[in-house]
Amino acid sequence: MGVFAHPDDESLLAGGVLAQHAAAGARTAVVTTVWAADSPRAAHLADALDKLGAGKPRMLGYADARNPSSAPGRPRLIDAPLDETVARLVHHLRSFRPDIVTTHDGLGRMTGHPDHRRTHQITLLACEAAGLPHLYPEAGDPWQPQALYAATHPDSGVGELAPLLTDVGKSVLCIPDEYVTTVVDVTQWVAVKWRAILAHQGEVARERSLPGILARLPAETRRDPPRPATRSSNPSTSHDSRPGRSRATHTGSPPEAARPLPASPGLRTVRLTRNNPRRKVRT
Ligand SMILES: [Zn+2]
Repeated sequence: MGVFAHPDDESLLAGGVLAQHAAAGARTAVVTTVWAADSPRAAHLADALDKLGAGKPRMLGYADARNPSSAPGRPRLIDAPLDETVARLVHHLRSFRPDIVTTHDGLGRMTGHPDHRRTHQITLLACEAAGLPHLYPEAGDPWQPQALYAATHPDSGVGELAPLLTDVGKSVLCIPDEYVTTVVDVTQWVAVKWRAILAHQGEVARERSLPGILARLPAETRRDPPRPATRSSNPSTSHDSRPGRSRATHTGSPPEAARPLPASPGLRTVRLTRNNPRRKVRT
């Protein structure tokens, strides 16, 4: 299950991994915390999720921190009571019962958008709370995800994107490469990932949005050549917006539930085990 802020974040940050897992027969789903279900972006999200094999949109429907029209009459995600947002995400975790969850990193995915950071925070809290029966009992039977990955960008992976973002006045936040512990080669699913990104037509049409910036690149530039996956032993998290690859780091050894999968998304920031409520958290 991916938990991301805006419609398009799922495709940019985890499109390859979602497509890969769907192709391997895994159940996949995406919770989107910001933008209303009756907004134009919801239809584009549904199209993208269809291309990724990730089911129907699951939208919490909060307003964007910088765009009140994203969910008229609704509070901004960053203003909503923390307990309320966590409870609503716990409901999705307990109903879908994912083994692995991926979300934004603590930096807020390169640009540091406050919705990205808040989504990261509530996902960490919800993954812990979902397994505890005395928390949010109205949200369903307890379910403990086995692993949580935070999608991130290492220094070496942001190089080609950095000038594209700084040119439109956006910040570029990334982490040291040695923090990355897991790298997933999604080259085989690049075409699917592109289709999902381009399904967000409203964003593609915008000058400063990442889908728009990427869509305007020459086709030969957009085609990321196959590269060998690399691994490091240090904790961290990472995902790459470029369709060619996704990176991840982890704390400790991979949880048992994750091992049968050919690859796991992003950067593992938290290791969750049902019998160990004391969790090591890296952000
Ligand atoms: Zn976003």
